[in-house]
Amino acid sequence: MTTPLTPDTIVAFIADIFNRRGSDSYLGEQVTMSEHMLQGAQLAEVAGAPDTMVAGALLHDIGHYTNEFPEDALEKGTDTLHEEAGAAVLDPFFPKSVTDCIRWHVAAKRYLCATDPGYFARLSTASVHTLALQGGPMDAAEVAEFAGHPNLDAILQVRIWDDEGKVKNMPTPPFEHYAPLLQRVVDAHSGART
Ligand code: FE
Repeated sequence: MTTPLTPDTIVAFIADIFNRRGSDSYLGEQVTMSEHMLQGAQLAEVAGAPDTMVAGALLHDIGHYTNEFPEDALEKGTDTLHEEAGAAVLDPFFPKSVTDCIRWHVAAKRYLCATDPGYFARLSTASVHTLALQGGPMDAAEVAEFAGHPNLDAILQVRIWDDEGKVKNMPTPPFEHYAPLLQRVVDAHSGART
């Protein structure tokens, strides 16, 4: 990246990623990356979620693009920590209510596997495979610590939309539909900091 990103350019930058790379396959799922993230955003929007949660659902997997790792990387048994990478690139522009949903979406899966008996059964095959690489269900100490997260409810709900947003041929609005919402969240955050 040559030009530094600003609150005025970050949404166009993300739109460009969606447009150029959105048709990438999503690690063994039946949907492309952009279909997956747009489905999550639509589920959040239809549920009447606040802008920050729609943004979190839309951007939760953006970390798959930050380091451009090959799409078979997880098949080889490595965990590329896309959740931390994605949150880190967006931290300067989005509030924690958004980036926490990104940073902790894998932890949320591990938490829900440990605390919700029906949750594991709803995971996709690919998500079960990555669960083992991600450390498996949380142990009791990890659950106790994660349960105290200030944004726990939003993080868990975005995770559930993540899991539900893997439906083949589900129509969604295009990325552009969400661009004004993202800009509102970015503007509110940059205004809050100045
Ligand atoms: Fe996802």
